[in-house]
Amino acid sequence: MKEFKAESKRLMELMINSIYTNKEIFLREIISNASDAIDKLHYKSLTDKNIKINKDEFAIIITADKENRTLTIADNGLGMTKEELETNLGTIAKSGSFDFKEQNKKQENIDIIGQFGVGFYSAFMVASKVEVLSKAYGSENSYCWTSSGINGYTIRKSKKENYGTDIILTIKEGEEFDRYLDNYELKGLIKKYSDYITYPIKMETSHDNQTKLETINSLIPLWRRNKKDITEEEYNTFYSDKFFDYEKPLCHIHTKAEGTFEYNSLIYIPSHASYDYYSKDYEKGLQLYSNGVLIMEKCADLLPDYFSFVKGVVDSPDLSLNISREMLQQNRILKTIANNIEKHIKNELLNMQKERRDDYLKFWEEFGLQIKAGIYDSYGTNKNNLQDLLMFYSSKKDKLVTLTEYLANNKKDKDIYYACGSSVEQIKTLPQVEAMIAKKKDILLCSNYLDEFVLRVMGKYEDKDFKNVCSDNVNLDTEDEKEELKALNENSKDLLSLMKDALDVQEVKFTNRLKNHPVCLSTVGEISVEMEKVMNSMPTNQSINAKKILEINSHHPIVQKLQDLYENDQEELKKYSQVLYASARLIEGLTIDNPTEITNLICDIITK
Ligand code: ADP
Repeated sequence: MKEFKAESKRLMELMINSIYTNKEIFLREIISNASDAIDKLHYKSLTDKNIKINKDEFAIIITADKENRTLTIADNGLGMTKEELETNLGTIAKSGSFDFKEQNKKQENIDIIGQFGVGFYSAFMVASKVEVLSKAYGSENSYCWTSSGINGYTIRKSKKENYGTDIILTIKEGEEFDRYLDNYELKGLIKKYSDYITYPIKMETSHDNQTKLETINSLIPLWRRNKKDITEEEYNTFYSDKFFDYEKPLCHIHTKAEGTFEYNSLIYIPSHASYDYYSKDYEKGLQLYSNGVLIMEKCADLLPDYFSFVKGVVDSPDLSLNISREMLQQNRILKTIANNIEKHIKNELLNMQKERRDDYLKFWEEFGLQIKAGIYDSYGTNKNNLQDLLMFYSSKKDKLVTLTEYLANNKKDKDIYYACGSSVEQIKTLPQVEAMIAKKKDILLCSNYLDEFVLRVMGKYEDKDFKNVCSDNVNLDTEDEKEELKALNENSKDLLSLMKDALDVQEVKFTNRLKNHPVCLSTVGEISVEMEKVMNSMPTNQSINAKKILEINSHHPIVQKLQDLYENDQEELKKYSQVLYASARLIEGLTIDNPTEITNLICDIITK
């Protein structure tokens, strides 16, 4: 007897003692494995001329034996070698659909079963013993894997005539489980969960003392059926089963194209990122079928990177079965399909944004960064395509808005105002922002590191410029105010230049754009403070410095103080300058190089 790997043991325990009410899903899981195994053999036979198989013989056969309490699910798929039985069934880590260790920390046990494709092990919810009798295609030998629970499993040589796999479940005692031995009940379960399986699922039925095999499922894959005959539940079940996501998708897009060439597609937008989405192992792509036969598990060319979270199926009779990956890339049909799919996804998202805002916000929370990256990575080439999907936090509305909504809310403004920082709350406290908000201006509060890069790459939306209220020259003064400020700056030229020399800045000047705060930082040139922060946090970049301007509130009592110091004590003025500059840096979320020096200066000043 061999032991299961630790994770498998835990999952197994869960299954055996399961109080999960939806135990019936085990059948769907086993049938789905059988169908995958047939898919594999089918595909192999298409690419390898030595394999001669009559594809009409492919089938999954289900037999219930009430007397011996066994339920057998037999397939004539690829089968498993001894080693495969060991690795595939001995350890859960092999099961691609289930990151058990990761999820186990967060989820209650009961949830695990509901939310994930637990696959093969789910058989233990209803069976006291599971035997897997398998013969790999092309192999002489067959083996039987047996397990009655967490104690472990055995593998022994056995006799099986044909290639493929028989899963023999000894159904647990008890009324609750009797239905899994009842043909009528079993048929219902097959119809409910596995109707779209593309190979016949057959059961023995007897009529007038004659038994024959009857095909239970309708065999037509869901994506080829008529939209109006498909229920929401069927769409969702298909999704969770095929893409191992037990949370409902946000939406599905089912299209049937006829014309120069034909294809069906069924596309889903998930409601959350899969656990591996942000890992390097994640592969984007849609399943590609040619006339119902799977030819590629993940066809990456069908999806642009910014929609890489999308799941789905494309089926076209116009694609040849043994087309190679390289040829697929060049394929004109595929390119057209990809273009159409991209349009459909975008339109569906825009529609969701309009009609189902809550769902869209969920989408945005999960995948918004992809859309932003899509604009930034293309240096703006995808701008027109993606900009209407963007959402930003509006200071006026106190919620996320689209750019169109922003324009509609602020028709009179010349520009689109934004400000950047680490969080909405933090940005609101920036002096320049506070002052603009006091003037009833609407500001997009950008707290994601990519935001400013995206806005810069876009440059404009409609005919309006994006203006960073902290760095760009945003001037809302009246003519008189402008004149007054100009005079103040000119009359204080020497004072300001003395201050500048004491600091590492481009300029020091008085400003009208502050309300309560004495100082703020602004920048000139391409790089803003926020961009400096982002770029300096990347491992490869050498230090980057935004060209900074120290701006002093022209209406603040500090002006008088500075003027007095200039007249009477210029050394003291330099100290004040340093303290003011350090405060401005701290408000912006920048560090200061010389904290001890600055704190000493502050102490000096307050003890005077
Ligand atoms: P998953 O199907 O998510 O990979 P499972 O736990 O359901 O996980 O199955 C584990 C593995 O066992 C499968 O990936 C497959 O390689 C193998 N397997 C299960 N059932 C069969 C079968 N009927 N024929 C061939 N291989 C199978």
